Amino acid sequence: MDSRRDFLQTLSASILALSIPQHSFASIEGFYSQPYDGPVLRVAIMGLGSYGTRVAEAMQDCKMAKLVGLISGTPSKIKNWQSKYNIPEKNCYNYENFDLIKDNPDIDAVYVITPNSLHHDQVIRVAKAGKHVICEKPMALNAKEGQEMIDACRKANVKLLVGYRMHFEPKTLEVIRMRKEGELGKIMFFQGLCGFKIGDPTQWRLNKQLAGGGSLMDIGIYAINGARYLVGEEPVWVTAQETKTNPEKFKEGVDESIQFQLGFPGGAVASCLSSYNISNLDRFFLTAEKGFAEMQPSTGYGPIKGRTNKGELNHPHATHQTVQMEKMAGIILNGDTSLVPVDGEEGLKDLKIIDAIYLAVKTGKKVPLKL
Ligand code: NAD
Repeated sequence: MDSRRDFLQTLSASILALSIPQHSFASIEGFYSQPYDGPVLRVAIMGLGSYGTRVAEAMQDCKMAKLVGLISGTPSKIKNWQSKYNIPEKNCYNYENFDLIKDNPDIDAVYVITPNSLHHDQVIRVAKAGKHVICEKPMALNAKEGQEMIDACRKANVKLLVGYRMHFEPKTLEVIRMRKEGELGKIMFFQGLCGFKIGDPTQWRLNKQLAGGGSLMDIGIYAINGARYLVGEEPVWVTAQETKTNPEKFKEGVDESIQFQLGFPGGAVASCLSSYNISNLDRFFLTAEKGFAEMQPSTGYGPIKGRTNKGELNHPHATHQTVQMEKMAGIILNGDTSLVPVDGEEGLKDLKIIDAIYLAVKTGKKVPLKL
C-alpha cells in the first residue's frame, strides 16, 4: 500500500474514532476512499511562515478544505507557493491590499497565521471584507482585543474560529468522553506541563511588541486550554509565579517560565508550568475519584501518547492540521459542531485567563475569574 493511501486510511479511522455527534463526513465509513463532490472551503493563508507551511501541506490531504489564496509581504514566497499549490495570481495579496479580498468570490475564509500582535487588526480586516476567519492561537494579546474581534465577526456575519488543533485529536477526545460520561468520577487534579527551550534571541516570539508576552502566550496557553477541556469546568481563580534566569534573553514583559494554579468550582485544582527554557515539557495528567489519564506528549504534533486507568490510548494518529481543517470546513460550511468549541468565545476564555495570570504574577495575589 502506498504511503498516501496508508495515511488516508489512518485519517479515516481517526476521524471515525472521534466521539463527536454525527457530522456530515465523520459518520460516513470510508469517507477518504470515496470520491467527494460536496462543498469545499476555499481558504487563503495569511502569513507564509513555518506554521503556515505546515498547515498548507496538511491541507493537501483534505477533501473539504483547499488552499486557494495567499497573503504575504514577501513576493518571492508568494511565487514559490503559487507554483507549489497552483494558486492563481488573482488570489494573491499583500498586507496592504488584502482588504480587496472582499471582491474575490473564489475565497471563503482566511487563516491568519502571523505573529500574535497582528491577529487583532488582521482578523477585523478580514471580517470587514466579509470572509470567515480562522485565527491562530493565541487569538489576540488580551481579552479586550479578543472581544473586539468577536464583535467584528458577529457584525460582519462571518464565523471566527481559533486554531485549536487538539480539540479534534482522537486520544484527547477519548479522555474528554470518559470524563463527560462519568467514567473517571469526580475530577480532583490536573497537571499541565508545556515548554521547550527557545533558540534565536532575535525571533518575534521573544519580542514583547509582536508576541505580547513570552512562553505563556505561545506554549503555556496549551496548559490553560487543556486544564479547561480535561477538567470540564471554567476556573474561578488563578495564582501565578514567574521565574526568570536569563533577563538578557527574556526581556521585560517576556516571560521565561511561569507556574500557575487554577481553581475550579467543583473543587479540582490545576497546577501548570509554562516555559521557554525547559525542553521536553509536554505532559498532561488528570486524576479523579474513579480513574486517571496521562498523556505525554500531550499537545505536540504527535503522535500523542497516553494511557488511562482502562489502559493505553491507541486511537490512530492522523496529521492534526488535516483533521482540524476538515472539521473546521464542516463547521463553517455545514454548521457542524465540535465536542470542544473552537470559536472566538473559546479563544476569549483563554485570553481572560492569560490576563489574570499576568496580573497574578504582577500583584502576587489570587485573582478571581469570571469566564
Ligand atoms: P513564523 O515566524 O514562522 O511565521 C510568521 C509569518 O508571519 C512569517 O511568514 C512572517 O514573514 C510573517 N509576518 C508578517 N508580518 C510580520 C511581522 N511584522 N513580523 C514578523 N513576521 C511577520 O511563526 P509561526 O511559528 O508560523 O507562528 C505564527 C502564528 O502561528 C503564531 O500566532 C503562533 O502562535 C501560531 N502557531 C500555532 C501553532 C499550533 O500548533 N497551533 C504552531 C506554531 C505556531
